[in-house]
Amino acid sequence: MDKLSITDVKLNNKRVLMRVDFNVPMDSEGNITDDSKIKESLASIKYALEHEAKIILCTHIGRPKGGISEPKLKTDKIARRLSELLNYPVKKIDACVGSEVEAAVAEMEEGDIIFLENVRFYKEETANDERFSRELARLADIYVNDAFATAHRAHCSTASVAKYIPISCAGFLMQKEIDYFVKLLENPKRPFLAILGGAKISGKISALLNMIDKVDAFLIGGGMAYTFLKAMGTPVGNSLVELDQIEVAKKTLHEVIDRTIELILPIDHVIGDKYNANANIQIVTRGNIPDEWESMDIGPKTVEMFAGYISRAKTIVWNGPMGVFEFPNFSNGTFEIARRVNDSKGTTVIGGGDSIAAVVQSGFTNNITHISTGGGASLELLEGKDLPGIAFLTDKRH
Ligand code: AMP
Repeated sequence: MDKLSITDVKLNNKRVLMRVDFNVPMDSEGNITDDSKIKESLASIKYALEHEAKIILCTHIGRPKGGISEPKLKTDKIARRLSELLNYPVKKIDACVGSEVEAAVAEMEEGDIIFLENVRFYKEETANDERFSRELARLADIYVNDAFATAHRAHCSTASVAKYIPISCAGFLMQKEIDYFVKLLENPKRPFLAILGGAKISGKISALLNMIDKVDAFLIGGGMAYTFLKAMGTPVGNSLVELDQIEVAKKTLHEVIDRTIELILPIDHVIGDKYNANANIQIVTRGNIPDEWESMDIGPKTVEMFAGYISRAKTIVWNGPMGVFEFPNFSNGTFEIARRVNDSKGTTVIGGGDSIAAVVQSGFTNNITHISTGGGASLELLEGKDLPGIAFLTDKRH
């Protein structure tokens, strides 16, 4: 899946439609509370500016109901913030398609930046309406997709518009995600370790099965570990178990045995007497969770065992927290694994909305090779799926 990148394309004097993900968090008045998402695409915007493109920026913000305009979700404040960050004028237009936009684009000079309105004010966007895709496409000679976090959505501005523009390429942010989640999986340095956690086995099993012929070992924590343990006949008390996934878990364990890889499950647990931040807690070894208690974190012996694998690995992919890290009494396992992954000298890649939140909360991020900007999108890449936002980009010719 080698796709054109922004550096492969001549941008000079070209009309460039760049889809960014500036879906920033805002307070109740619509003020931006964290502008990281804007900063993440500055490299692509600056590159296009340096190469004298005519830049037309497009993003969605929030989920406007029925595609109807909501003042709070307009892109004005975002365009203003971008202008401050670039120290450069950014012209806001109150539409995405139509005569007003086409007239503004026709007047653009090299190095001008136009910011379109919230693309989800058009219900056609999420309906993946062909006519709307074509109308967007009419604005540009080149499409740059830098919105990785929405690359798994088959919407007009994130995917289908690329069908109607002659050249479509990945921005720097998108390229980085492709490099770490696709190319890394194709050719990892070994030992290659996948750490999987999170609530449910059903949410991660496709990713696990897709990686089964690629990894040397899986470390399994979080709620999903208990369906595996139950499938092995180990008592798990009241821990989260998906009964309808027991057969899947058994089959997966057999698949692992058939290969020369390992699937490592927790050997001790931090358990609580109820699913609550203030639950009474105990640490018990595998097989010793009392009936009324549930495991909400991996125990200290498991952390040390996992740490051994982590220190030997040359490539690590991590998706899903090791426990209910939102409750301080059950966050230690996840934060300790974050610390050990951060200490790794190998290539370390973290994806998944909750794992990213947990790792950022742990503070152990400075040495991580790549923290994904897309939870759902990165999981789908681990599952081996083609993301619409990448699939429609122009193939590189060798
Ligand atoms: P996911 O989105 O599938 O990665 O799941 C993340 C969620 O899994 C987090 O909100 C955690 O609180 C939850 N989680 C992790 N471990 C457990 C556990 N042992 N029991 C219940 N929920 C868990």
